[in-house]
Amino acid sequence: MRIVKRLLFCVWMLGVVACTHTVVDDVYSARGQDSRIKYIIIHYTGENQEDSLRILTEQQVSAHYLITDESPVRVLQLVPESQRAWHSGESYWGKDSQLNGISIGIEIVNSGQRKNAMGDEAWQPYSSEQIERLILLLKDIQQRHQITPEHILGHSDVAPLRKIDPGPNFPWQWLAQEGLGRWYDEDRVVQLMQYYQQKGLPSAEKVQQNLRKLGYFIEPHGKWDSDNRQVLQVFQMHYRPLRYDGVLDAQTAAIIEDLIQTDKKSLFNN
Ligand SMILES: [Zn+2]
Repeated sequence: MRIVKRLLFCVWMLGVVACTHTVVDDVYSARGQDSRIKYIIIHYTGENQEDSLRILTEQQVSAHYLITDESPVRVLQLVPESQRAWHSGESYWGKDSQLNGISIGIEIVNSGQRKNAMGDEAWQPYSSEQIERLILLLKDIQQRHQITPEHILGHSDVAPLRKIDPGPNFPWQWLAQEGLGRWYDEDRVVQLMQYYQQKGLPSAEKVQQNLRKLGYFIEPHGKWDSDNRQVLQVFQMHYRPLRYDGVLDAQTAAIIEDLIQTDKKSLFNN
């Protein structure tokens, strides 16, 4: 009798469990799947380390990772990659917008542009150790989520009218030498630059169309108004940081054209 009672109790318990929990069997796996993450967006915090950490953990902004500026540098994970971090705000690239949902955000402690002792505006440099740690992190994220080179971007690239981080001191060329991000062929750019110096610059409309093809949010209306100059300026900060005045010149036009030609070749090869 006691055994029967026990058996009845077990059956009752099984029924309760079956009713309140869905048992999921993950023995099968579909081939048709990929990561939801398409972009990595790089930022500077614009604050010192203590304030950066406080703001990114207590306020309505966040990032998946924070690279500190102490010694040794630490990489802090503030948001799991499975969660959305609030780092890019209103943002665009190619046909995508609101990139927080499809990106990993990395903040680097760096105060950006500040007045120095002479009263001049100066950009704070990134330390080699910060960039070395960033490169290791980027390689890991890129490999796990299969991020394409043109989708490793700065906040200013995806929000050119609102943001200027990670600024002209950020070493995009160093990253490109490590196979991270899109870059141009320097020999071809010299040739194209000479061509534009002799034959004249391409039209504003053509350059704006090409910037749009590269992914920038720009309206190709053929005039260099303040918005379009701002987009050109953030492009220069990324690819030609020694001069970022937002004015079209032969070298900037040559870099844009070379990146477009490289994109066409990779499309053809695919
Ligand atoms: Zn930012």
